Amino acid sequence: MKANLLGYDARGLASLFAGMDEKPFRARQVLRWVHQSGEADFSRMSDLAKGLREKLAAAAGVDAPAIVGDTLAGDGTRKWLLKVDGANAVEAVFIPEASRGTLCISSQAGCVLDCAFCSTGKQGFNRNLSTAEIVGQLWLANRLVEERISNVVMMGMGEPLLNLDNVLPALRLMLDDNAYGLSRRRVTVSTAGVIPGMDRLRDECPVALAVSLHAPTDALRDRLVPLNRRYPLRELLAACNRYLQKAPRDFITFEYVMLEDVNDGEAEARELARIASRVRCKYNLIPFNPFPRSEFRRSPPERIRRFAEILQRAGITVTTRKTRGDDIAAACGQLAGDVADRTRRSLRLKEVHA
Ligand code: SAH
Repeated sequence: MKANLLGYDARGLASLFAGMDEKPFRARQVLRWVHQSGEADFSRMSDLAKGLREKLAAAAGVDAPAIVGDTLAGDGTRKWLLKVDGANAVEAVFIPEASRGTLCISSQAGCVLDCAFCSTGKQGFNRNLSTAEIVGQLWLANRLVEERISNVVMMGMGEPLLNLDNVLPALRLMLDDNAYGLSRRRVTVSTAGVIPGMDRLRDECPVALAVSLHAPTDALRDRLVPLNRRYPLRELLAACNRYLQKAPRDFITFEYVMLEDVNDGEAEARELARIASRVRCKYNLIPFNPFPRSEFRRSPPERIRRFAEILQRAGITVTTRKTRGDDIAAACGQLAGDVADRTRRSLRLKEVHA
């Protein structure tokens, strides 16, 4: 089988080239062609010797997932449905803003975590995406949008910290000056709170971290984010502080989905203020985005405003996420993609909890 070059970070490509008796600087040239120029055709890599171009064409390819859907929302948000194999498709979303262009990408086909308010979880889990499938989302978007992609957030489908073997090389490519050259502060991994993964990310490739908090007490969080039963709040907050020792930003972003009459009361806001006294953080309030058969309601704007105000009065930075692309189901928690195997979640959950 041909090597898919989208799956190789600088080190990986250098050793692939070493195996072909090629110099390391050739690997860097190819890295720039593939990621900076978006080139997939070796015959057009004009500064490579003809012999190398032919060797590459015979042994390697640049294969991104196939685009099976491409939808543009009224606000400029664009969503792609990407087929990763015969049975699975995932989604990626580009969100243009005046000062930045953010690409939201997926890390798994489906998700094992089954958070109560998330549509991805409802369809079960099928498999981890490979490095090439993760990077392929960025590679494609980079070719397709006019704006510069200045930020990448791993907030699409899946739990990135349960797929670190493939996510880490993808992150290194995002940061590599010969590839996408993004700063660590502009690459964000979002996690529901997989503590061993947080520690490993911190040690191997610290980038900005967002943690899906969603509840200030274990009783409520157990219900909304079942992973909390395995990694409860006290341990999660300690892991956040360990992460901050090496993080490129001096705060954790706590995401907090606003569910009417579930987690949006004044008591919860005051509890969140106490958490903020233990971990340097900012809160990002996300108005709940409904999806078919979801059992929750979005908190009304006035209630979200009051919630934010309590936190602000306690001296905490709070932002409320603008709901983008909701007319094309591209908003947070609405990414469904398509996962054929809906039977393996319980199996995989056992593995996670083992
Ligand atoms: N598994 C990772 C990343 C994926 S989700 C994580 O849990 O962080 C990205 C964010 O969207 C998370 O904070 C998630 O909790 C939130 N989210 C999921 N479903 C949502 C919904 N229906 N409305 C609003 N936010 C949602």
